[in-house]
Amino acid sequence: MQAPICNVCLKSDVLCSNCEEKLENGEISELEIKISRILKELSNEYGSLRDSEIIHVYDTENVLVIVTAEGDGAKVVGRGGEIVKEIASRVDKSIRVVEQAKEDRAVIQGLLSPAEIKSINTVFKPEGESQKIVVDEEYEGKINLSIDELQQLISDITGTDYEISFEE
Ligand SMILES: [Zn+2]
Repeated sequence: MQAPICNVCLKSDVLCSNCEEKLENGEISELEIKISRILKELSNEYGSLRDSEIIHVYDTENVLVIVTAEGDGAKVVGRGGEIVKEIASRVDKSIRVVEQAKEDRAVIQGLLSPAEIKSINTVFKPEGESQKIVVDEEYEGKINLSIDELQQLISDITGTDYEISFEE
């Protein structure tokens, strides 16, 4: 398993100087360390985790978002969601697993699920271009992340700012 912290730190209660430095720089967070260690422990029971890579973990009010390497999402979710259910019960929050992807659209779709992207448009404003994601209004309130949380997550994961709009 690959995680934001090294293999030694995954199995230990303390951090090596390298990982400690990453924590101080803000490259990794306490939450990422905690979740990575839980996943490492679960990898004894759930083999799919051994071959997975965790890139980042983000916290929101109701949901913990785990970003995996491309193609590793299902390995972290587990069969029938058994792994995420286990993590959810330990942290008392819902878990959403999203794969990193070359295309921003794939990341956004993962975060919005079960809602679908209707369109992504470039909006031209005096202060420059911006990207607008249009989602069918029937999904408004059905995603367990707020618009602000979604916009922040999309920006953190893709490095691009998007605005989300629920429209008919
Ligand atoms: Zn380390």
